[in-house]
Amino acid sequence: MRRSLDLHHIISPGLRDLVELANTDDFDRVTEQVRNLRGCTSPINLHGWTITTDQTTRQVVRSYHSEDEPSGRLLTTCGNRRASRCPACSRLYAADTYHLIKAGLSGGKNVAEAVRDHPRAFVTLTAPSFGPVHNRPTTDAGKPRPCTCGKSHTEDAPELGAPLRPASYGYTGAVLWNAHAGALWARFTTYLRRALAEHLGMTQKALNAALRVSFAKVAEYQQRGLVHFHAVVRFDGPEGHTTSPPTWATFDALRAAVGLAVERARLTVVSDAVGERVIRWGDRFKVDQISALGDGELTDAKVAGYVAKYATKNAEGAGTVDRTLVCGSCSGRGYLRGPDGFRDLCADCDGTGQAERLTDLPVQQHARQMIRTAWALGHLPEFADLKLWKWAHMLGFRGHFSSKSRAYSTTLGALRDVRRAWRTAQAEAARIRAGLPVDDENTTLVTDSSWTYLSSGYRPGEELLAAQVRHDIAHNQQAKREGLVPA
Ligand SMILES: [Zn+2]
Ligand SMILES: [Zn+2]
Ligand SMILES: [Zn+2]
Repeated sequence: MRRSLDLHHIISPGLRDLVELANTDDFDRVTEQVRNLRGCTSPINLHGWTITTDQTTRQVVRSYHSEDEPSGRLLTTCGNRRASRCPACSRLYAADTYHLIKAGLSGGKNVAEAVRDHPRAFVTLTAPSFGPVHNRPTTDAGKPRPCTCGKSHTEDAPELGAPLRPASYGYTGAVLWNAHAGALWARFTTYLRRALAEHLGMTQKALNAALRVSFAKVAEYQQRGLVHFHAVVRFDGPEGHTTSPPTWATFDALRAAVGLAVERARLTVVSDAVGERVIRWGDRFKVDQISALGDGELTDAKVAGYVAKYATKNAEGAGTVDRTLVCGSCSGRGYLRGPDGFRDLCADCDGTGQAERLTDLPVQQHARQMIRTAWALGHLPEFADLKLWKWAHMLGFRGHFSSKSRAYSTTLGALRDVRRAWRTAQAEAARIRAGLPVDDENTTLVTDSSWTYLSSGYRPGEELLAAQVRHDIAHNQQAKREGLVPA
């Protein structure tokens, strides 16, 4: 009877589709699928099946076919880390990162709780200057004073971070610095161990036998378009976080060693086109002690919060775009090779190799010039390894946004496993309720599956349901903040 409803009276395509979904066999399942995505902006649509059989009895224990879904497909979250792409998935990523960093500082998630008594520092390393930029300086007493240009810029002034004299700004150096920042960090961690041994007057071998140094770092863009790093550095005993570091491994020793390693870690880049460049850290760096249990300025929770926030930002802080600029048809080369072996100009990008014209990008002049410089350097064979076309929209930086040494704490993968196990347990509980067979630990189950990617996004009707889910989540969070429900 409901199918006779005249849908043409309903104007909105979303509503029309929602009515169509409501008339499928199982609307509850439609809403459940959308609810499980927790507001994801652009879910992945999959088609396929999974069948689990009992190895001994050859019996099918369970099977799932996306065709059995009311809409004929399975939706999963996009999992994007970046807030500009998917606020919902990025929130989850931030929460996971928070727990990962927090575990490395206060214990938990299989990390010994004694780590909170180990020397721990929050270290910030920056890039050197490539020319003066507009900024909001303060006096030693913390009072604001005018920028070198004479003006007092507001907090959101678009010129902040842009060079005072663009014509003489070191764009080549700035892009090359971003492109080598990850390698410079790796060198820093090696030099830190050496500097520590030297500062303490011991051999590297003796130090390594008694002390482990673990790191968890994130990259953040400054307004001037250069990345800088924030890192948690922790001292452990020889067996890692379960053992205490030796008494001579103090925070003061750590601070002294960071200073030495910042000074000494250098990379030299040689190119016929741009000459010899030394890649090094800027003079401005910070080493702050992380205090246990909230008795100091920088607490475990505060540090974990910072790191989680930085981990979900990309280059947004530098005012650039969040997508690659490489033309998909010609991979940035600007030409395609025809069957005759001759080069044909790529019609999609008119030979520029760029998916979008750099002059049309919705960015400030400074970011555009960084992108342009990265693109130009990308033509030089000596910089081929840096993949500067691919990373031009990141202003040359191609490193990982967050990384940690193995000894630091749990992994994001482990946190996802916990969540998956919890979901499986919930599904089992639902099976018991429904009177379906439950897995016996003694049987050997084999799972076989085949999945193909269909598309991304929701149907218009599902989009309306997702909007409701987002609304509910926001409402819940608001209530938690106001203390109406327990957090
Ligand atoms: Zn998502
Ligand atoms: Zn200024
Ligand atoms: Zn092209």
